[in-house]
This record gives sequence, C-alpha cells and structure tokens, in this order.
Amino acid sequence: MICEQMHEEASDAHHCLFCENPVGQSSKPEHILLDALGGRKTTKWAVCSSCNQTFGGTIDKVLPEQIRVQRNMFQMRSGSGDAPPGLLQVTAASGNVNFTSDGTPRPARSKPFTATPREQGGWDLSFNVESAEQLRKYVPHAAAAMGMSEDELWAQLEGQEASLQTGYVGPVHSTLSCGGEEAIRSMVKSSLVLLATVTGTTALRGPAFTAAQSFVVEGSAHFVEHNTAMDGRQLPSPTYEKLVDAHGPMFNLIYVKSDGQGRTLAYFHLINLFSWQMVLASTGGPVNIEIALASNPLDPAQWDDEVASKAPLAFDWLESPDYTDGVETTLQRFSKILELYQELSLKRVARSLITSVLDDYYTKGESIENDERGKAAIEALSSKLTTALMQVPTKKNLVLSRSETIGKPPTDAKPGTTNK
Ligand SMILES: [Zn+2]
Repeated sequence: MICEQMHEEASDAHHCLFCENPVGQSSKPEHILLDALGGRKTTKWAVCSSCNQTFGGTIDKVLPEQIRVQRNMFQMRSGSGDAPPGLLQVTAASGNVNFTSDGTPRPARSKPFTATPREQGGWDLSFNVESAEQLRKYVPHAAAAMGMSEDELWAQLEGQEASLQTGYVGPVHSTLSCGGEEAIRSMVKSSLVLLATVTGTTALRGPAFTAAQSFVVEGSAHFVEHNTAMDGRQLPSPTYEKLVDAHGPMFNLIYVKSDGQGRTLAYFHLINLFSWQMVLASTGGPVNIEIALASNPLDPAQWDDEVASKAPLAFDWLESPDYTDGVETTLQRFSKILELYQELSLKRVARSLITSVLDDYYTKGESIENDERGKAAIEALSSKLTTALMQVPTKKNLVLSRSETIGKPPTDAKPGTTNK
C-alpha cells in the first residue's frame, strides 16, 4: 500500500515499463516473483495487461519449467495455490516413471496388458497393473483384444494365482541446471517490476534502463554476456541465516539496490540453489534505492517485501558475483536440500500409508479402539511402514477373483452364464 501511494505522488501518468500503454487500477495484477514460483506479491502499476499476458505465455514459462522436478519433489504450490506439476517419463533405475502431482511415483507404462496369440492356438496374456482393482478394470479390454467376451475371459482367470509386486523407483535421473536467455529476461523483468514498486515506472523508462527494458522485451546475447552473471557465492552471514529463519531452507530472494550514481544491481536467488546477478542500469538510475522480496516456496504465505532492512546485502557484495566455486556450492546446497527432501518424503509416505491402512480396516467416522481390529490395523501399518522405509521390494500372492472384495459375493457375477 505504501508503495502505491508513493508512486501516485511521483507522477500523474503511469505507463507500462515495457511499452506505451497506461497502467493502473484496471491493469491485470503482475506477480513480481512468478506465481508458478510461489510468488504472491503483485502490482498493477508496472506492467500493462497486454505485456503481462505476452510475458506469461513466453519468458515467464521457462524458469518454473526448469525447476519442475524440484517443484514436484518438494510439493511447491503456486502463489495462487495451484498444485505442483506432475512429471512424465522420468528416467529411473527401475525404468521410466511418472510422478503424479502429489509426488507419488508410478511406473510409466505404455500398455496395461499384452495379449499375444500362441502358434498352436490360444493366447499368452499378461497384466501390468498395480492392484487387483486395476486388473479387473482391464479384463474387459483384454477380452475384447482377444475376441472373447468378458465372461469367457473371467472364466479362465478366476481362481488363477498371480502376484502383485511392489518395487522401488531407485535413482532418478534429473538435471541440476537453470538459466539461459529467456529465463534471465524473466528475472530482469521481476527485478525491474520490484524496483518500480518503490520508484514508479516513469523513473525506469529513461535511458539508464533502456538496455534492460529492451532485453526483457526482445532478448539480447550482448546483455546476457555483459550485464548478467551466475553467482555461486554463499550469501554473507547473518543475512543468510535470517533468510532461512524467516523463509525456509529453500527461500527465494529478489534484491535490487542502487548506489549514489544510480548504478542499479539486482540479485536473483532461486529456491536457495541458483543465483544470478544482473546490472539493471550501469549508471544514472534513481539513487540509493534498496528493495528486496523474499518468499518461502514451501509455504508461499511466508513472503515479505521489506526484507532489505532485515537481511541487508552490501552494494559491494552485489557488485562482485563469482562463480569460481559455483558448481561445488550448488552441489553442496543440493545435497542439503536432498536431506530435507528425505525428511519431507518420509512424512508423506507415512501419511499416505496410514490413510490406506485405515481405509482397509475402518470406514470413515468409525472410532479406532484397542480391540482385535485395532491391533490388526497397527500390525499391518507397522509392517507396511517398515517395508516402505527400508525400501524392501514386496511380493504378494493373490488369487484372481472377479469379485471386488475377497469374501464378498460378486456384485456383477452371472451365476447362470456358462462358457461356450
Ligand atoms: Zn506494456
């Protein structure tokens, strides 16, 4: 609110940072840190609705896509609460896997069943499914493929022995890199928009920012080379510790600062893993400005755009990016983050196993008591948890049955049907 009042006073007419359109109350809110990266702070006073839409469909898609794996792994929701992205065809030791939006791995298979005719007549039929329910679902399709009726196929399957195997995904192949011209254009845009919340857009539409402005709009290899740098340094103490305390171990940070000559620098730190330094104006911008926005991608409600006063960075520090030890630093940061992942994913596995065991033993609303059923549920849970945490592959033998629940009479059985 304070920022909006400030630039109301700074200028009467407000124009888009990137074109001649007016901006203001009726503009579409622009996320300063991208919505997909968990950003919640928006402004209507920097980017017109038309540019907002253009960037949203182009450069703003790149960075979130580059950290798609981390967004899924750590269940990072968007700033507006959208579920994390799923992952398709991730290469793992056990074969390709898909990860659903809630982070659960599923074998990526092309076919749930294969039916091969034998030379001497008859068929070889195998199912590739995760549960007896899923198998029942595919039986009609398999029957159709083999040119028989569902009843005919079930007559052959009923009572046969099968096994359900639980495997583990094993090591997953993923890349640990981020950047490129389009991603950097989006970061420069975020930094300029953040700066505009303090200065208004008029001050940023002058010659000092022309290079940065046109870089956002149309890109420039020259700008990437001369005005941006990857930065592999650790953030100085105690700024780093303060950011982790307030915004979590994977915090995002956009920091913009100018000196007495109006040289304006931006620092973009993404999920506490990748950082870039960008020169927004080499000289001649608004002087001695400082604004920073930090957020917690694990909990987007924890954001703050007054971070510069709480966790300050010196201009000289911002001025000297260094990637000499960048690869090593990134790997160290990543290994820390993986420890966090292990902790979070164990909680997730435990929660989902508890739910599934309780569903097996109880119906919703029933109270759990210390009786035979309660003991059996606890036994089942403890065995499942141990198996999952120790990643022991399991094999459960079962007898194929058309009925939905073992022991329950088949709901769609037709006792009168005979096989021909
Ligand atoms: Zn515009």
